[in-house]
Amino acid sequence: MPEWNPWHGCKKISSGCQNCYMYRTDAKYGRDSRTVARTAGFHLPVQKKRDGSYKLNPSDRLVWTCFTSDFFISEADEWRYECFEMMRIRSDLHFFLITKRIDRFLVCLPDDWDMQNGWENVTVGCTCETQERADYRLPVFLKMPIRHKVIICEPLLEKIDISPYLGSNIEQVVAGGESGYYARLCRYEWITSLRRQCVEAGVSFRFKQTGALFEKNNKLYHIERKYQHSQAAAADLNTWGDAKQISDISRPDKKINTY
Ligand code: SF4
Repeated sequence: MPEWNPWHGCKKISSGCQNCYMYRTDAKYGRDSRTVARTAGFHLPVQKKRDGSYKLNPSDRLVWTCFTSDFFISEADEWRYECFEMMRIRSDLHFFLITKRIDRFLVCLPDDWDMQNGWENVTVGCTCETQERADYRLPVFLKMPIRHKVIICEPLLEKIDISPYLGSNIEQVVAGGESGYYARLCRYEWITSLRRQCVEAGVSFRFKQTGALFEKNNKLYHIERKYQHSQAAAADLNTWGDAKQISDISRPDKKINTY
């Protein structure tokens, strides 16, 4: 699926950002991730090929949007309206964006946003990684004029209760652990708790990936990146052939990142 990153760089805002994938990738290239800058691909949705057709054709329908930043970060305020304009023009595409700044949603909207229903071709995922963030962000999220809403519990850092927020306009809850060298623990019981809440509320649930450090049935697993999605899919079947059990999670050799 195509990715559209109109700007790159972000400021860490909550505990879920501690081991941000974008920061980790930038560090390999000595790039300062806190500098927010427009990218060369800013106009990707409306860019055309020599034959006059769009580079992103309708068969690319789902476009992951702003995955190397946060779409609602204040540093991008002067650029965002142009992005909304491109989304409006490309109503044949569906833009999926994830934010930890849902409290900025209303001040970021273009004049022609549908204040009752949002836009049909935009899905917003609101991240809540802890109970405290869920209780802060989700009441705001529920009130926003968004046509398609998804709750993202990733990286899930503790057991959380989101049942009060699973109203009928939440289309799905996605949960998963944290990847990377410094990954924090994710427990299977946190995942099953979320799934139970979703089943009771009649909301679709997806366990997307285990993360690198995963506990299930009192066993701790260190799971390579390439297996994290498949192991999540297999978790219910108890087939854990590729996961390596480890006994020591203290890993004193590893520094803990702060945000
Ligand atoms: S909001 Fe997202 S992109 Fe920004 S620092 Fe946090 S995890 Fe990274």
